[in-house]
Amino acid sequence: MTRTTQDYINEVDKVSAHNYHPLPAVIVKGEGVWVWDVEGKKSIDMLSAYSALNQGHRHPKIIAAAKKQMDTLTLTSRAFHNDQMGPFLAKLTKLSGYDKALPMCTGAEAVETAIKAARRWGYKVKKVPDNKAEIIVCADNFHGRTTTIVGFSTDPVCNGGFGPFTPGFKIIPYGDVKALEAAITPNTVGFMVEPIQGEAGVKMPPDGYLKACYNVTKKNNVLFIADEIQTGLGRTGKLFCYQHEGIKPEIVCVGKALGGGLYPVSAILADDPVMMAAFEWGNHGSTFGGNPLACAIASAALDVIIDEKLIDRSNEMGEYFRGKLRAIKSDKIKEVRGRGLLIAVEMTKEAGHARNYTEKLVASGVLAKETHETTIRFAPPLVITKKEIDWAVERIAKVLA
Ligand SMILES: *Cc1c(COP(=O)(O)O)cnc(C)c1O
Repeated sequence: MTRTTQDYINEVDKVSAHNYHPLPAVIVKGEGVWVWDVEGKKSIDMLSAYSALNQGHRHPKIIAAAKKQMDTLTLTSRAFHNDQMGPFLAKLTKLSGYDKALPMCTGAEAVETAIKAARRWGYKVKKVPDNKAEIIVCADNFHGRTTTIVGFSTDPVCNGGFGPFTPGFKIIPYGDVKALEAAITPNTVGFMVEPIQGEAGVKMPPDGYLKACYNVTKKNNVLFIADEIQTGLGRTGKLFCYQHEGIKPEIVCVGKALGGGLYPVSAILADDPVMMAAFEWGNHGSTFGGNPLACAIASAALDVIIDEKLIDRSNEMGEYFRGKLRAIKSDKIKEVRGRGLLIAVEMTKEAGHARNYTEKLVASGVLAKETHETTIRFAPPLVITKKEIDWAVERIAKVLA
């Protein structure tokens, strides 16, 4: 007997922790923007693993780099050097315009690294009294799942029952510069923010918000920490989303698409005054951080973004896609918003829970995910073509009409 979709789902229900509620598609193969399920049905991927697949599924250049490195060397730990890390970090720092990068594996690890960097900088450079450092974050943030990070989440689903939490964080409303100004004290070392809040439902702050916040942090000797794990590497039509407002944060967190849809690779970027103050030998690390396989893959992942002009593509295809979505005639759609290929369709309250629509989308061959009750996120791989967008929109229009 061949196993059906339901067999796979039942098995996962039985043997896996129930910390996710996946849509009912069991995927067995991917290529570019397309995936195939266990029953042979072809669908278009409009989530891209939350923007970790900006280069598309199994990009041939990234796969080739991985295979080559797998046949040579995969892991040394940082107890020794390897020949892949230097060239990769040189590429990443040159591309982003920072002095240094510190490689980690997951996004949450990069965020933890940024928090540690800001605190150490605060004590050593800003001379904040011991154990008094404060970091300001925004309501509705998503920065990952470690205990420290969920401790400053405002979503009870993320942190309910997981306390006690790490002290030293202050939460202010997103999009409100005055609130930032008011929250800063002499002990504030950092302000950490997502340039667009992806998990909150592609929430976009008012124009000029990042720039204004940046100016406030500079006036008060506070580090601006941009979490670009979802918005970075071309997703919003710039290499980093903060570039839309012409600022240069002191610390940038990158992850997701840095691993080319293949392997967890993350990093923080900073200039010497922060990176050198924060870290000295022994005070931070990760066994797999900066491993040669990760570095070979991430290096190829960056090459693909540049060589295939995926940043420009994101802009161009994003505009095209939003135009097509806005043209859908439906009184259930309240708003279409986004930047580059990070797009949300906001449904009206009367339209019912967004999950009803994502389930129908999946059934019709469009893999998209709801965030909260009324938002559907569309974030396809940046390699998507107009023809592929048309294919998707034809089906989206039927479901949302
Ligand atoms: C996904 C995400 C993270 C966490 O990354 P993981 O690799 O899942 O740990 C952090 N910040 C933002 C903005 C994200 O979208």
